Amino acid sequence: MDSLDELYYTMLKNAADNKKEIAPEDADPHMVDCLAKSDNTLIFRTKPCLCPPDDRPCIDACAWDAVKADGENGVTIDQTQCVGCQACVDVCALDALKTKKDIIPVVRELHEYDGPVYALVAPAISGQFGPAVTLGKVRTALKKLGFTGVLEVAAFADILTLKEALEFDRNIHDENDFQLTSCCCPMWIAMIKKLYHQLLPNVPGSVSPMIAGGRTVKALHPQAKTVFIGPCMAKKSEKNEPDLAGAIDYVLTYQELSDLLTVTDIDMASLPEDSLPHASKTGICYAYAGGVAAAVKTTLEKLNPQRAVTIRTRRADGVPACKAMINDILAGKRDGNFFEGMGCIGGCVGGPRAIIGKDEGKEHVQAYGDSSHYETPMDNPYVIEMLKRLGFTTIEEFLTKSDLYDRNLDG
Ligand code: SF4
Ligand code: SF4
Repeated sequence: MDSLDELYYTMLKNAADNKKEIAPEDADPHMVDCLAKSDNTLIFRTKPCLCPPDDRPCIDACAWDAVKADGENGVTIDQTQCVGCQACVDVCALDALKTKKDIIPVVRELHEYDGPVYALVAPAISGQFGPAVTLGKVRTALKKLGFTGVLEVAAFADILTLKEALEFDRNIHDENDFQLTSCCCPMWIAMIKKLYHQLLPNVPGSVSPMIAGGRTVKALHPQAKTVFIGPCMAKKSEKNEPDLAGAIDYVLTYQELSDLLTVTDIDMASLPEDSLPHASKTGICYAYAGGVAAAVKTTLEKLNPQRAVTIRTRRADGVPACKAMINDILAGKRDGNFFEGMGCIGGCVGGPRAIIGKDEGKEHVQAYGDSSHYETPMDNPYVIEMLKRLGFTTIEEFLTKSDLYDRNLDG
């Protein structure tokens, strides 16, 4: 364990024990800030850069032009351009670049905030904490840690599926029309916004299930704090985007949650179950590559089985494959009319902060999806109930009269 990790675990344990001073007196104040401060930093440098100026692999690794040469400091990260893909961290031989953690500020909130704090867990969570740890046990553990309530982001994926299916039904009328999925993966959206801007008219401006969940919680409980927990670093960047800011207060990774469970000695496998799934099978399957496209196709075919132009899906996972698919679209070699892109290979089960391997993760998600009582969002009574609480009587009314789940991709 290096000294930064030791400092992290010491501070996390002290925060969990609700100590006032959580850092040792001799700790480096910059490192203490990096671990305990809540800000928009995604990547930070822990030591001086020693690579020669003409050979800095982190600069080459960044497809987003966010790592800049910076005189005697070596490199600096432009946090406004960084999407949190972690490519620079992975190529740094000195281990000088680290990803930001947000768990210590969240533990502080759990002790000190006198309003509700909700956890929103990403669909890839099945099996991440061991085969015996069901989502019901995760709920119990999160409440034991101080969360007021726990929501499945897959239930919001259900509403976004309906939104994307309705957008397709409204906009795709002949063989020249096509749609790119807008929800779910921030890396895919960053790619389109930064590198393939000309395709934005084909992307409906829908928020991701994470943002939909945060906005819904805040619409129903304006004082609430919202904490998303998933396998993704890019979500830490997504929550700060100007048109999305405010919906989610903190993004944690499964690894950060696991660290907190370690220092608090909570054994999730031994905890009792808390409640049943609230999402449909199709919403749960957003967690792996192909899940979004399959969900939209199944739902559209149920919504409008007679439509003249049928939905033909195509998908790519991993940045190079997504770029290749987009280049095919631009070259007119579409071979489909609904396109799903996921930044990570395998989709979110292959996210950089997943704890288990992508194939094992997918098996657990599929088993959990199979246990859902609802095949599609249209069968899911929790979706209807949630919309009623927002003041809408039907899904159609909500999707046509509310802008709660819209976003401005041009901004
Ligand atoms: S995390 Fe990704 S986007 Fe951010 S600086 Fe590193 S390589 Fe660039
Ligand atoms: S595919 Fe990867 S980058 Fe995209 S949302 Fe999932 S974990 Fe995040």
